[in-house]
Amino acid sequence: MRVEELLKKRRSGGVLSREELVFLLGLPLDSAETYMIMAEANRLSKEHSDGKAEVHAQFALNLAPCSCDCLFCSFAKINDVFHEATELSVEQAVSYARQFEVDGANAVFMMSTAGYPFERFIEVAGEIRRNLNPETTLVANVGDQTLKNAKRLKDAGFAGVYHALRLREGTDSTLSPEKRKESIRNFQEAGLEVGTCVEPVGPEHTNEELAEMIAFTASFDPSFSGAARRIPIPGTAMAKRGVISELRMAQIVAVTRLGMPDSVMGNCTHEPCTLGAIAGANLFWAEVGANPRDIEEKTEEGRGGTVSDCRSIFRESNWDVLDGPSRFYNRKR
Ligand code: SF4
Repeated sequence: MRVEELLKKRRSGGVLSREELVFLLGLPLDSAETYMIMAEANRLSKEHSDGKAEVHAQFALNLAPCSCDCLFCSFAKINDVFHEATELSVEQAVSYARQFEVDGANAVFMMSTAGYPFERFIEVAGEIRRNLNPETTLVANVGDQTLKNAKRLKDAGFAGVYHALRLREGTDSTLSPEKRKESIRNFQEAGLEVGTCVEPVGPEHTNEELAEMIAFTASFDPSFSGAARRIPIPGTAMAKRGVISELRMAQIVAVTRLGMPDSVMGNCTHEPCTLGAIAGANLFWAEVGANPRDIEEKTEEGRGGTVSDCRSIFRESNWDVLDGPSRFYNRKR
């Protein structure tokens, strides 16, 4: 059977070709072969992270209608969801970050919309860094940056960033795919680990597009890759395209793990679910405050899960959860 051959190839250190990834992504969801792929991805993820999953936790510094107009994002001006710009005070930001630390998050993510002033981001980051334990892993989720700004993030105490070239970037967003890639290079050159993901996956994305994106994420040795489905924002044009099932997302999560080199420890999915975890996801996110997949101003009152929710989904899926700072963002090389 071809699947067994491909799994054997991967197990012996072989790199799956684009065509082989497409083949795996095209297997029927309910087939024994898809479950074999998920089982192998689970085994690989456990091997690479010593059986320890991670829970990272993100808060947004601001909420604002964003002119970048990524069609899948609730902040996009064009989606007409949020009309007022608000931002956290430094005290509120510190309090969110400290709460995540107390809750046992393995990394604290600070997010802002693309238009948030970079100087302000660095200023708040400094206050947060001073108020967290020195060993707590801090991660930035910001817009495209120059090398100079990437170095400033490193100097401000960030271990890494989250940055993704999103599916159909430049078509379903107004951002330049080349700039996204350039930013990833800048972050890495500045000494920041880059976590990424194949996202946001919708029913219209072909297996060829997904395989292409899996191979792209593998090409820059991220701290983690993974896959996340698109959450429809009610009333938007993109919501009409629909949503993939959790099982389809789990299949893509599994194939993404198989498509990564062994140096990549992490494999994420969002939103957290047991199917994703048994298919080899070893990273989930908890969220508070503004969330680009939610229409609630405070996602903790909407879609966002807590650190404790994420830990419990991992346990239900037979995963232990790491205690202490993220190993994905602090790889020993
Ligand atoms: S994904 Fe980021 S850049 Fe795009 S509209 Fe939302 S906040 Fe703006």
